[in-house]
Amino acid sequence: MNFGTSRASAIEMLNKFIDQNLFEYSRLRNFDYGPNNRSNISCLSPYITHGVINELEVIDKSLKKFSFAKNEKFIQEVLWRVYWKGWLELRPNVWSDYLMELDKIKKEFKNNQNYLDAIEGKTDIECFNQWIIELKENNYLHNHTRMWFASIWVFTLELPWQLGAEFFMQYLYDGDPASNTLGWRWVAGVQTQGKHYLASEWNINKFTNNRFKNIKLNESAQPIFSNKTYSIDRKDFLNSEILENKNLLIFENNMTFELSEFKEHKFKKIFLVSNEINRTIKLSEKVLKFKANLLKDQKIRLEEKLINCETINTNDLKNITEEVYALYPTVGENLDFIKNNQLKNIKFLYRELDQFSWQYCNKGFFNFKNYIPKIIVKFN
Ligand SMILES: Cc1cc2nc3c(=O)[nH]c(=O)nc-3n(C[C@H](O)[C@H](O)[C@H](O)COP(=O)(O)OP(=O)(O)OC[C@H]3O[C@@H](n4cnc5c(N)ncnc54)[C@H](O)[C@@H]3O)c2cc1C
Repeated sequence: MNFGTSRASAIEMLNKFIDQNLFEYSRLRNFDYGPNNRSNISCLSPYITHGVINELEVIDKSLKKFSFAKNEKFIQEVLWRVYWKGWLELRPNVWSDYLMELDKIKKEFKNNQNYLDAIEGKTDIECFNQWIIELKENNYLHNHTRMWFASIWVFTLELPWQLGAEFFMQYLYDGDPASNTLGWRWVAGVQTQGKHYLASEWNINKFTNNRFKNIKLNESAQPIFSNKTYSIDRKDFLNSEILENKNLLIFENNMTFELSEFKEHKFKKIFLVSNEINRTIKLSEKVLKFKANLLKDQKIRLEEKLINCETINTNDLKNITEEVYALYPTVGENLDFIKNNQLKNIKFLYRELDQFSWQYCNKGFFNFKNYIPKIIVKFN
C-alpha cells in the first residue's frame, strides 16, 4: 500500500475507485484480501480525515456514477464518519474522559508483558501479529480487521480498549478522535451499553479467504461494563460574522479550504497550523511525516491561487493576539490546545454539512440513517 501525500493523488484514487470498484462495494466491502489487494474498498480515509478531499465531493462523484439506491451503502459509510464526529461534538466529555482514563491506565500497564507483547506482535494469535506488522508498515487497516483487532485486544488479550485506541491513533494515517475512540468504545460494548462486538474464528476465516491459521479466540466474553452516561451538550455551531481582511487558521486535521463555503472570502493571510508536540497521544514518525507532507501540498495549492500563507506550529498560536478565524478543528487535540491555552481570539467557522448533519447525531446511527436522504437533497 502506498498513500501519496497530495490532493492530486487522493483525487486519482477516488476516481479510480468510483470508475472501477464502486459497483461491487456493497457486496465485497467486508472482505480483507490483504494489503496488496484493496480494490474492494476506497482507502480514502487518510485524505477524508485530513479534509484533503471531503465527504460531499466523494458522495457527489459517486452519485454521478450510480443512483442513490445503488450507492446507498457507500454513502452511508461516508456519512458514518460525519455522524461519529457529530456524536462526539454533542458529548465532548467522552473524549476528555477517554484521555484521563488513558493517562491512568498507561501508568498501570507500562511494564505489563501482555501489553508489550501485543504491541510488538508477539502474541499466540497469528492474524493479530500480522495486523500489527501491517499497521506499522502501511499505517492502514481494513474496517473489518479493525473490528477483529479491537475485539481480540479487549476480549481475548484482555487489554483495556483505551490502550488499543491509543495504539491505533499512533499508527493510522487516518487516525481520528471521533471514528477511532467511538469505534473502540463500540467494539468494547460501552458505546451502546451491553452490546459488544465479538470476533470469531469462522468470520475471520470467511472474510480473509482463510489466509490465517490457529485463530483461537475468546468467543463468549461479556461486554465491558461501564455505568457512565453522557448527556447532550447542546451547541448551535453558528458562524460569527466574517469580516474581510482578517487572518484564517487551517489546522492539519481540517484542510478543506478550497472545498469550503469560505473559499471566495478575502482573508488577509492564511496560517497552516501543524501540531507535532502538543498532543496527549504521541504520534509515530510516519504519521507526523504524512501530515507534514499533506500540509506542504496544501500550501502549494494556496500559493498557486496567490493566497498569502505561512506554516506555523500550535505553539505559535499563543503569539497571535488579534481576532482570527479558524476552520473548526473538531473535538480532538487541536481544539484541546486552543481550550487549554484559552485562545479566545480564535473564532470558529463551521462547515455547512456539519452544521446541518450534527443536529441528527443525538441518537444512534440507525436514527441518523433516516436523515441521509434529507442531507443528500440539501447538498446535491
Ligand atoms: C476500532 C475502529 C477504529 C477506527 N478508527 C478510525 C479512525 O481513526 N479514522 C477513521 O477515519 N476511521 C476509523 N474507523 C472506521 C473505518 O474502519 C475506516 O474509516 C475505514 O476502514 C477506512 O477505509 P476506507 O477509506 O477504505 O473505507 P470505505 O469502506 O471505502 O469507506 C469510505 C469512507 O467512509 C468512511 N467510513 C467507512 N466506514 C466507516 C466507519 N465504520 N466509521 C466511520 N467512517 C467510516 C471513511 O471516511 C471512509 O474513507 C475505525 C473503525 C473501527 C472499528
